[in-house]
Amino acid sequence: MGDNILIAEDDPDLRPLLAQTFEAEGFDVTTFEDGEGLLRHLDADGRPDCILLDLMMPRVSGLGVLAERSGDEAFASIPVVVLTGRDDSEAVETALERGADDYVTKPFGPADLVSQVREQLD
Ligand SMILES: [Mg+2]
Repeated sequence: MGDNILIAEDDPDLRPLLAQTFEAEGFDVTTFEDGEGLLRHLDADGRPDCILLDLMMPRVSGLGVLAERSGDEAFASIPVVVLTGRDDSEAVETALERGADDYVTKPFGPADLVSQVREQLD
């Protein structure tokens, strides 16, 4: 079985591309269209190997997910890579303060994204 990655991304075009990219690399992928779905899954279903977390999402944003899980030790042990737009440097800073481990700025190359995620798994 491959590493288990949870991907939260609201963009309906990008979400399947991200899923395919990681599936092609042998990951087990579960996708969510917002932070609410991701949080519900984490509550029900424990511990992925990594989370790819878009910052700008409806209902519960990426920053909202991180805020919701602040102080949660089990969550803190899960590597989180944030996906962000070009002009979100302040949000990135906040995400890193809230426990995100790395970030990728859109647009990104799939190969770079995969290697950044793999770095977090080592
Ligand atoms: Mg978004």
